[in-house]
Amino acid sequence: MNEISVDDFQTSAREWLVANRTAAPRDYGAICPPDLITKGISWQQQIESAGYAGIHWPTQFGGRGLTPQHNAAWMLECALAGVPPFLNMVGLVLAGGALQRFGTDAQQHEHLHATLRAERVWCQLFSEPGAGSDLGGLSTKAERDGDDFAVNGQKVWCSGGRYSDWGILMARTDPEAKKHDGISFFLCPMDLPGIEIRPLKQMTGEAEFDEVFFTDVHLPARQLLGPIHGGWGVGMAVLTSERGHIGTSIIGLERRLESMTGLAEGRELNAVERQRLTALISRGSSYKAMAQRQGPIASTAASLMKLGITEMMFATAMLRGDLAGVDATLESPEAFGMLAAPGGRIAGGTSQVQRNIIGERLLGLAREPRP
Ligand SMILES: Cc1cc2nc3c(=O)[nH]c(=O)nc-3n(C[C@H](O)[C@H](O)[C@H](O)COP(=O)(O)OP(=O)(O)OC[C@H]3O[C@@H](n4cnc5c(N)ncnc54)[C@H](O)[C@@H]3O)c2cc1C
Repeated sequence: MNEISVDDFQTSAREWLVANRTAAPRDYGAICPPDLITKGISWQQQIESAGYAGIHWPTQFGGRGLTPQHNAAWMLECALAGVPPFLNMVGLVLAGGALQRFGTDAQQHEHLHATLRAERVWCQLFSEPGAGSDLGGLSTKAERDGDDFAVNGQKVWCSGGRYSDWGILMARTDPEAKKHDGISFFLCPMDLPGIEIRPLKQMTGEAEFDEVFFTDVHLPARQLLGPIHGGWGVGMAVLTSERGHIGTSIIGLERRLESMTGLAEGRELNAVERQRLTALISRGSSYKAMAQRQGPIASTAASLMKLGITEMMFATAMLRGDLAGVDATLESPEAFGMLAAPGGRIAGGTSQVQRNIIGERLLGLAREPRP
């Protein structure tokens, strides 16, 4: 089975998707919205039973032991079929990736296969009211207390917090150290006493995020992932894979561009609208070419794709709204798209922050002042 070529694997994935795609929730992107969670979990279980979960994960963790190219083929076929490739990125990419790279044997065996089977759903507890782009400034504290860490503080913008069983948590374990040196990375059960989750309503009217409050939460010390006070390195490895993953949404983008072209059909576009549309389609084609060259590999170049694609999606949503006309801005899929689009430019590191990374690490420009 592990000898299967990428082409044969892709063909079998395509056939499986044709037969099973009606069981999938709509393609919601990287993180399952709360109203689709039941359907999302059952979709992940179906994917797992059919051998399409953890395609490039080692077999001892319940994966299939194939290559990242096989996994990329699955992602491509799912995008073409218009279905989510897995339940959510936080569990299947971020927590799964961090556990494989930094987890102890016990942690890997406890979580990895259960995550593939959707018996364990994960959320990301990084951002705080005072620490987003500057995540190193986080102030949630985890103080050693016997066999536990006592956690106190607040997290925010936690996607899917209220339906998750576990969270990946970054907290300050050494307040005396330089800010990036005093942080640790934990695996945190979301049902511990002292954790309070409150939904946050966003401007689309939906509430996909939560605020999460920690009051004297006793987190067992064995839930530390990676070295004590070494959580910054773990977190950065995780965030780079998040950006790389967001960058692979090129196929979704291509489909949007196709539907944009369709929107123009049978319409009298004026010269400015035609120019905006053509410019977007050309930009989309350039990103596609770049993505094909780069592949879904997590690296600094992931910032380039994250920036390009999310900015492009924003511009596409705005043009779509403009073409739909004034009436459609009251209540319509186009209006929803315009309200939802800014989030992509913020999630996983804002566009401004990606520009800084590209300037400093890819182009070798002078570093911005760090007061
Ligand atoms: C859809 C979505 C899902 C999310 N899901 C999660 C989640 O599950 N878990 C989680 O922990 N977080 C999540 N987030 C939070 C996200 O990571 C933060 O919103 C993001 O890192 C920005 O932080 P901030 O909101 O605190 O903005 P700030 O960091 O306060 O930034 C405010 C503004 O200042 C700009 N800025 C900041 N620093 C610089 C700089 N050095 N140079 C130039 N400009 C700068 C920013 O670009 C931005 O425009 C999510 C966000 C969104 C939109």
